[in-house]
Amino acid sequence: STATAFSASIYTAARNGVLIKGGNYIEKLAESRTLILDKTGTITEGKPQVASMLPAHPWIETREMMELAAAAEETSSHPLALAILDKVKGSGWNIPQHEEIEVFVARGVQTIVEGHVIRVGNMRFMEENHIDTSSIQEKIFTLMQRQEIIVYVAKDEKIIGIIGIQDKLRENMKKSINRLRLLGMDDMILLTGDLEHQADFISHRMAMDDFESEMLPEDKARKILQLQSRGAKVTMVGDGINDAPALAYADVGIAMGGSKTDIAMESADITIASDNPLLIPETVYLSKKTMSIVK
Ligand code: ADP
Ligand code: MG
Repeated sequence: STATAFSASIYTAARNGVLIKGGNYIEKLAESRTLILDKTGTITEGKPQVASMLPAHPWIETREMMELAAAAEETSSHPLALAILDKVKGSGWNIPQHEEIEVFVARGVQTIVEGHVIRVGNMRFMEENHIDTSSIQEKIFTLMQRQEIIVYVAKDEKIIGIIGIQDKLRENMKKSINRLRLLGMDDMILLTGDLEHQADFISHRMAMDDFESEMLPEDKARKILQLQSRGAKVTMVGDGINDAPALAYADVGIAMGGSKTDIAMESADITIASDNPLLIPETVYLSKKTMSIVK
């Protein structure tokens, strides 16, 4: 029976660490031809490392800039925050006393150290707080050329430096995308909260059909609704808290990367416990095989 075939497939998947939350998702996945991929933590490892530390002026020490950044990032689980905290702890530096931390989704974090507002985040976050970065334009350009993700550090209304962070592509992600295309995914779109040039770079490396950058969580969700309104059955692969709305709206939401973000796992229909991207095409293959049996 259909129910037996679904149960057997769910069991097979589970043995490989793929949790399918219902037989209906096997059917939807088999029919889906539109695949949305998140960038950070999904296509990339999401375990970025600090590659460059550039104070804005000669009189600002690298260590001071990094310690202030770490204060604002201390309680964040964002991959960029973890890279900064790793670097500071690994260098034997300290995390200064600070007041409560405020989080601005898809922008950055903010706290107060010795009466000074410390903001750490992306260019949009700086612009929104009227922090001028024109004096370090050349430094920004250097890090962009190295394809590093730039994290801006500001003290009150002044930029005090930038941190370049590199996030490696997940091993086997390209192979996985190639296989997904062979399995019938003919519209593959990268969505990210990151900047256009980062999205463009990764999108080309991964041979995606399209990309959209600087997206807020609700933008990702809206994009999925838009594709669905044109008749597409959409599969979304994501990992983070910012992907939860999109994962919930997608016909099939797939959460990657173990138990990293509980809310992503809860919003998803399928979760891949290990970090192995090849399990995505394997699950699509399994769903198609199952549907060919039940039909
Ligand atoms: P993505 O969609 O690529 O997974 P997010 O939506 O989580 O990214 O964040 C978008 C951008 O906001 C990040 O690329 C980064 O520039 C900035 N950002 C978010 N949180 C932080 C943080 N804790 N520290 C520094 N930057 C952050
Ligand atoms: Mg992500």
